[in-house]
Amino acid sequence: MGDCIFCKIIKGEIPSKKVYEDEEILAFHDINPVTPIHILVISKKHIASLADIQKEDEVLVGKIYGVINKISEDLEFKKDGYRVIVNCGENGGQEVMHLHFHILAGKKLGTKINS
Ligand code: 5GP
Ligand code: ZN
Repeated sequence: MGDCIFCKIIKGEIPSKKVYEDEEILAFHDINPVTPIHILVISKKHIASLADIQKEDEVLVGKIYGVINKISEDLEFKKDGYRVIVNCGENGGQEVMHLHFHILAGKKLGTKINS
């Protein structure tokens, strides 16, 4: 996945502000935050999108939600709440084709999610 920017972040070829890392998962601050706290959570395995998840990836995806829960504790926004978004494919507005989970936190978000 030589030209994938998130794979380059995993390899350290592009710098990032990391908030969590283990052998399978990495989380870092979005370069262009849309909320006061905007974190991206990715698998180190290159999976292009939600549409590309295989049966064998389902445990990993479950672990990502556990990591999101841990990050919300560590960065102290668990109590206030937050939103997790996964954009998938062209209609979903996905720009980086490496599966990622946006965590939006730090402000009260609107209820409209279809724009
Ligand atoms: P998408 O639209 O694909 O769901 O979201 C891609 C996200 O990746 C965007 O929010 C964008 O700001 C973020 N992003 C793109 N390139 C970089 C980068 O090099 N570093 C970081 N930290 N975030 C990036
Ligand atoms: Zn990748």
